[in-house]
Amino acid sequence: MDFDRRGFLKLGAVAAAGTAIGPVAAAVTGQSPAAAAGKRLGMVIDADKCPTDCTACVDACRKENNVPRFTEPELDMHWIRKIKFHPKGVEGAQERSFPAMCFHCENPPCAHVCPVAATFIRPDGIVQVDKHRCIGCRYCIVACPYKARSFVSKPVEPAEDGNPNVPSRTHGVVEKCTLCAHRVDEGKEPACVEACRATGQEAMVFGDLHDQASAAAELLRTGRARQLRADLGCQPGVYYMGL
Ligand code: SF4
Repeated sequence: MDFDRRGFLKLGAVAAAGTAIGPVAAAVTGQSPAAAAGKRLGMVIDADKCPTDCTACVDACRKENNVPRFTEPELDMHWIRKIKFHPKGVEGAQERSFPAMCFHCENPPCAHVCPVAATFIRPDGIVQVDKHRCIGCRYCIVACPYKARSFVSKPVEPAEDGNPNVPSRTHGVVEKCTLCAHRVDEGKEPACVEACRATGQEAMVFGDLHDQASAAAELLRTGRARQLRADLGCQPGVYYMGL
């Protein structure tokens, strides 16, 4: 993969560090709940359809999940972010971008390192954090090769215009994208996917990757979609096209 922008380098650096925990992931054996249930919710994202200046998915996620903004860059939280890059070796190439969030891995190192089993996989493949179990040790933040987790580093007051369907924040725990499980359970798509479609881009396609009739599975069948750093063995549920 040829990227040279700082955002992706961060991901790459962490992913490279993740080679160290690759064996941890690989060491875990047995069928995941998702595989056992025959369902695998996930996403296919087409970077060719993602305008660099568009933040619709990021904005929708913050609003839907009441993700706060902290002014201190080192404390700021994100459940989804836009990664910008310049294709390497292409003179005068335009800056490009793609969204990245928790990849809801089938073999998630974040879960394997959690000492209190606060991270778990739902039968539909969504990786969740039980904030009542989380002790804030942050091992999972180090273990995640995709830089998908955030620590709630200080108390957060509920936003006045916040989504009342999302539980209030708990200071001192780790959190991340839930694939909008609360919406999925109501038969809706994640907020980022809905917002992307509303822009007319439709760069993000959500669905059951194991359901051959789903639009996401159809994209996988093209052979053009791939996982980021598949070599780490995490088996992400988010695939990319155009990278
Ligand atoms: Fe865990 Fe990171 Fe995979 Fe999400 S992307 S399941 S946080 S290892």
